Amino acid sequence: VPYRPTFLTDSDEVLGAFQEAVFPLIERLFGRTYRQEDFTTWDIFEVLSPEERAEILPLIRAPGFCQSIKPYPEAQDAIREIRSFAYTHVVTAPFSKALTWMGEREEWLCDHFGFEPDDIYHARRKANVWGDAFLDDKPTTVQAWSEKWSDGVPMLWHIPNTRTYPLDHFRVTSWDEVIRNVHALTRK
Ligand SMILES: [Mg+2]
Repeated sequence: VPYRPTFLTDSDEVLGAFQEAVFPLIERLFGRTYRQEDFTTWDIFEVLSPEERAEILPLIRAPGFCQSIKPYPEAQDAIREIRSFAYTHVVTAPFSKALTWMGEREEWLCDHFGFEPDDIYHARRKANVWGDAFLDDKPTTVQAWSEKWSDGVPMLWHIPNTRTYPLDHFRVTSWDEVIRNVHALTRK
């Protein structure tokens, strides 16, 4: 009987385009145009002044923003495939002080990716969630998870922002690679 591994995936930047939803707001409010390639840090809000942050955060926290994030079609296909051989769960950090975020995120994941609410962990300390494999685009989170679960397979989803981070041993650049890595665990 093949082992059915547990695969944990992040949502923002991995399943859906959070940053691409924020850039038009920055452009509208502050008149500056950004692409992911313009950043050398994971956190895109670092380019904003405290005053600018205070202006934009309410728009991101507002009802409807979370739902408006575009899902990546190739992620939808990949999740469908991975789910055929692995327990597939989402570990997603809620946006702070956004009162409707978690409900919208849950509905979004169920509607666009076929998840059940029970498959979804809303968590910030993601390293506390066990799995056989873990996929996230945030370098510090992947690092922390890898330190906690030494038998696990940590994967850093590549986004242009993090290209200079020294974590290439964790980096994956395609869903094919993720699928291969998780599928290899079925022989565990
Ligand atoms: Mg993310």
